Amino acid sequence: MDAAVHVLVFPWPRQGHINPMLQFATALVDVGVQVTFLHTEHNLRRLAQAHPPGLRLLSIPDGLPDEHPRGFLAFMESMCTAGSAAYRALLLSLVCAADAPVTCVVADGTMPFAIEIPEELGIPALSFVTHSACSYLAFLCMPKLVELGETPFTADDLVSSVPGMERFLRRRDLPRGLYCTEQGDGDPLVLKFAEAVGRTSKACALIFNTATSMERPALAHVASGTSDVFAIGPLHARSSSAASPSLWREDDGCMAWLDGHEDRSVVYVSLGSLAVITHAQFTEFLSGLAATGYAFLWALRPGMVQTTSPALLREAVGAAGGKGRVVEWAPQRDVLRHRAVGCFLTHAGWNSTLECAVEGMPMVCWPFFVDQQTNSRFVGAVWRTGLDMKDVCQRGVVERTVREAMASDEIRAAAQAMAQQLRLDVAETGSSSSELERLVRFIRELSV
Ligand code: UDP
Repeated sequence: MDAAVHVLVFPWPRQGHINPMLQFATALVDVGVQVTFLHTEHNLRRLAQAHPPGLRLLSIPDGLPDEHPRGFLAFMESMCTAGSAAYRALLLSLVCAADAPVTCVVADGTMPFAIEIPEELGIPALSFVTHSACSYLAFLCMPKLVELGETPFTADDLVSSVPGMERFLRRRDLPRGLYCTEQGDGDPLVLKFAEAVGRTSKACALIFNTATSMERPALAHVASGTSDVFAIGPLHARSSSAASPSLWREDDGCMAWLDGHEDRSVVYVSLGSLAVITHAQFTEFLSGLAATGYAFLWALRPGMVQTTSPALLREAVGAAGGKGRVVEWAPQRDVLRHRAVGCFLTHAGWNSTLECAVEGMPMVCWPFFVDQQTNSRFVGAVWRTGLDMKDVCQRGVVERTVREAMASDEIRAAAQAMAQQLRLDVAETGSSSSELERLVRFIRELSV
């Protein structure tokens, strides 16, 4: 263990941010760096499984009572006030500790305060980006887009002010918020994200959970206007054994169910940890899936479908042809690796996109919000490893795209080629591994 270097890793306290930052923390521990990983107290109580050994866990309050629903804006507000005050106090004590003080912070770029507070205290802070580089660049260009009137974000017009994407990025592919589909540019969530990206892009370095082979042009554009950029992903592909930091209990009973199916005969469906859909949208997905005739495994978190209890959802799936299986939370990486799964109907969250890419699995994307609109455009129009339903949720479109993704040799070949490249990228001499080594050296130099 390198006693002179002690890194505090602080993710935005949501599943899709905890996962890659924990993988990053594990990679640091593996090369002998001392790491403290910061959760919120609420999440630490919920964590279903053990953490990797060698990692110190600490927690701060997020300022909300346990039973609070933690909706996006209320949660953000609370983290920026109560969470930020608790973080400052903890950081001060960690930096001044007599034994192994914290020498460097790697914080999630979603929280500007988590980078600005250590900088104020004279501690170097790096920003970790849990989104794709392409969506990061789109967020970075957001003020320019609004200034030039490239709105509303629902139109089919090509966007001219995101460099390198002029030929395929439409306004509909820009990051989307929750509330106004007609005026995506005015959505408070998108504006908050864009502001955070603008502020944290000034950190002394940006770390991306992506590979240069996937996002070379976007990474180059980001690097041209900011500090040092490291592309070290997909981090989860570095080790298949990392403990899962799931906030929900994984239902691995579905693995035996998958064992009973033919190769590539099952559609895996998940919209991640945050998306919430209406009952009408649920019905469109269900009808479309049932019409394909394929068996499907659907991860349906409690509360994911508005106003409908888990029991009613199971009943509806059971009544739709008997080929569907529901779990509340799937062991997703194992599911995507299973020979019986033929395609992934996903919201194109960045972790899900990477997990799918590493397995060479065709995707059907129905992006929900923020970065997912841009990710799904890349899947459908640039990498061609899947199809993009974009903002359309109709049973006929679900049926057609799932059938095509299950059957298309072109899509499968593109997905397999990408998987092969990513495996090279994370291998010992691959570009992501070299970038990780360069990053560790950078952190060690900052820490002296
Ligand atoms: N996930 C899982 N089981 C599920 C659904 C999701 O393990 O049933 C994991 C998935 O593997 C991924 C993360 O949750 O690592 C979701 O992150 P992503 O960026 O895809 O989407 P978000 O939840 O942030 O919208």
